[in-house]
Amino acid sequence: MKKHNFYAGPSILSEYTIKQTAEAILDFEGMGLSVMEISHRSKEFVAVMEKAKQLFRELLNIPDGYSVLFLQGGASMQFCMVPYNLLSKKAAYLDTGSWASKAIKEAGLFGEVDVVASSKEDTYSYIPKNYKVPADADYFHITTNNTIYGTEIREDIEPGVPLVADMSSDIFSRPMDVSKYALIYGGAQKNLAPSGVTFVIVRDDILGKMDRKIPTMLNYQTHIDKESMFNTPPVVPVLAALKTLEWYKDQGGVEAMHKINLEKAGLLYGEIDRNKLFRPNVGDESDRSIMNVTFVMDENYMDLEADFLAFATEQGMVGLKGHRSVGGFRASIYNAMPLTGVQALVDTMKAFEQKN
Ligand SMILES: *Cc1c(COP(=O)(O)O)cnc(C)c1O
Repeated sequence: MKKHNFYAGPSILSEYTIKQTAEAILDFEGMGLSVMEISHRSKEFVAVMEKAKQLFRELLNIPDGYSVLFLQGGASMQFCMVPYNLLSKKAAYLDTGSWASKAIKEAGLFGEVDVVASSKEDTYSYIPKNYKVPADADYFHITTNNTIYGTEIREDIEPGVPLVADMSSDIFSRPMDVSKYALIYGGAQKNLAPSGVTFVIVRDDILGKMDRKIPTMLNYQTHIDKESMFNTPPVVPVLAALKTLEWYKDQGGVEAMHKINLEKAGLLYGEIDRNKLFRPNVGDESDRSIMNVTFVMDENYMDLEADFLAFATEQGMVGLKGHRSVGGFRASIYNAMPLTGVQALVDTMKAFEQKN
């Protein structure tokens, strides 16, 4: 039986991505060689890198004046690369979860950090509103989707200073206006590719303003100048990313992904709200993530938590256990999760209610 994969990351990829990548690992474009054993400078691999960047631009409608980079080190490396390259004196951060707070910690190594608001005291169950971003901040950093807690900022905000966003777990989930951002980054392993590649979209004119010396590998300009080929790129994840991007385009692009994502999330939240056994982790509907849906047992049914997990596992579902800091359940319903997978979970929740 094919499993319904609700893992938060690494997570579900399209069958097209996995099959095409497997094929390229065995015999890349009929070369009689694996994509893993050819030079990254070969014309065949250079074409993969070029096409991946070009599709990235096309799908997100990225304006001129921005560079698309494929780096290593994960989103976690960006927690330090961003302040290394952009923080002169002071940066503002919104604390919406443990990834955000890790980014805040790194920024503190480079200058003053103004945490404009935090929902930590409420286990990050909402997105803070009505905060003020200081006008003299070098940038304002947000985490658009809080993978662990299931909250999401689903619009392109305008803080009045350069906006930097960690979009590890919601890139390509909705159409967005890239021109509102100075820098966007994320690890690939949620909505794009296997782990090992990190995407960065950076507006070129925000760079080069720093007095400090920046190590070559941590300097965005190095990777812009060398077109993400300063050193050996992670060839298989980049190829897999290209395959996912081809699949997105074939599905109708981010507008189509967004439409189905809203449908999937609506179906699942609807059931969580309706079913007497469960309740949502995030109360405010406008804060609810359409990528990671977190929920817990209703307080009258707390003792059924392990039973539900076991029941769902019997129905072929994996990865539903919530993060240890939140408990309960988390269904990650990234782009590659079909509506039928979400429907199967909803059916399982209904069947479990019947049994209890
Ligand atoms: C997974 C995740 C990270 C960490 O990514 P790595 O690539 O493992 O460093 C950071 N931010 C968010 C929002 C994530 O979901």
